Amino acid sequence: MSCIFCRIVSGAVPSDKVYEDDKVFAFRDISPQAPVHILIVPKKHVAGLNELSDEDGDVVAALVAVAGKIASSSGLKNGWRLVANTGPDAGQTMDHLHFHILGGRKLTWPPG
Ligand code: AMP
Ligand code: ZN
Repeated sequence: MSCIFCRIVSGAVPSDKVYEDDKVFAFRDISPQAPVHILIVPKKHVAGLNELSDEDGDVVAALVAVAGKIASSSGLKNGWRLVANTGPDAGQTMDHLHFHILGGRKLTWPPG
């Protein structure tokens, strides 16, 4: 298994785990860009948003629902951002679908 995020989900690569259920795994980003920077991934390997299929609706719903719960439990009362970099122009570096939860500071818009 060469995908690092699959290896994090399986426990083969250590991570700072924040949340786990049957569909979703969340862990702290190794290079945080904000005071709270958490990645949420499906346990099933999907390369990115472009590779989602019609059968993945329940996984996407679970990812977004978990994002809200984690933001709330992380105390991000003043706002937060959910980001899915997709493809080279957006700077996607890991080819396993992941949402970034970013918060804990004022976030700029538009992003760079
Ligand atoms: P992206 O650039 O949107 O594909 O995001 C990939 C993110 O994964 C980056 O923010 C990296 O810092 C993060 N990352 C890469 N490897 C690890 C790891 N082993 N543990 C936690 N975060 C990681
Ligand atoms: Zn993977």
